Amino acid sequence: SRFVSDASHELRTPIAVIRGYADMLDRWGKEDESILDESIEAIKNESEHMQKLVEQLLFLARGDSGRNSLQIENIQLDELMGEVFEESKMIDTEHEYEFIGEQAQMSGDVSMIKQCARILIDNAAKYTQKGDAITIRTGKKPEGVFFSVQDNGIGMHEADVEHIFERFYRVDKARSRETGGTGLGLAITRNVVLMHKGSIRVHSKEGEGATFIIRIPLNYIS
Ligand code: ADP
Repeated sequence: SRFVSDASHELRTPIAVIRGYADMLDRWGKEDESILDESIEAIKNESEHMQKLVEQLLFLARGDSGRNSLQIENIQLDELMGEVFEESKMIDTEHEYEFIGEQAQMSGDVSMIKQCARILIDNAAKYTQKGDAITIRTGKKPEGVFFSVQDNGIGMHEADVEHIFERFYRVDKARSRETGGTGLGLAITRNVVLMHKGSIRVHSKEGEGATFIIRIPLNYIS
């Protein structure tokens, strides 16, 4: 019930903003081009945010009721992360992306693993200054494979690191909303990693960036 109440609360803001703009257009905006432009932009942004939020909520709700199933296939992890790296460079020209890919094979759900990588990279970009570096790595160990995303952004307090995988937890609510965050990305990442019997480690200090490392064991049986 806490989840439902938090989710409703999160949906309230975009709904209120959209209603506010609709009212404004109704009253004054029809002939005023600047009000029209501002309203259209805001309604687009808020509805995109709502769509992302609803999709993420559905994913978590399906997970809670055990209805998220993995499509297991063989994954060439370095190739997959190489693709995500190329995409990130294209979408976000404000950071310096670096990719260090050691060959690594695993079995797992390609689209879910890709989604996790995107969430971590998206966060790295959100919480790192323009022009700074984001490094993506893959590699293998005898017991399994790993991938990591490292940034040198704002980082986090140790006390916050303990909570960041909780649904809707954000260190800085205002900043997260400004950058389009839902507060659900890491909760989803954690679920996907657990479904693959893997683990996540975070190394971070306030002001000194963050590194997220995801390990997936070999030959796990889901
Ligand atoms: P959000 O949508 O708010 O980014 P997440 O679940 O992805 O939600 O992350 C939860 C919180 O963890 C964020 O609001 C942010 O405070 C913190 N966080 C996540 N990744 C990083 C990072 N790379 N650097 C600093 N803080 C981070």
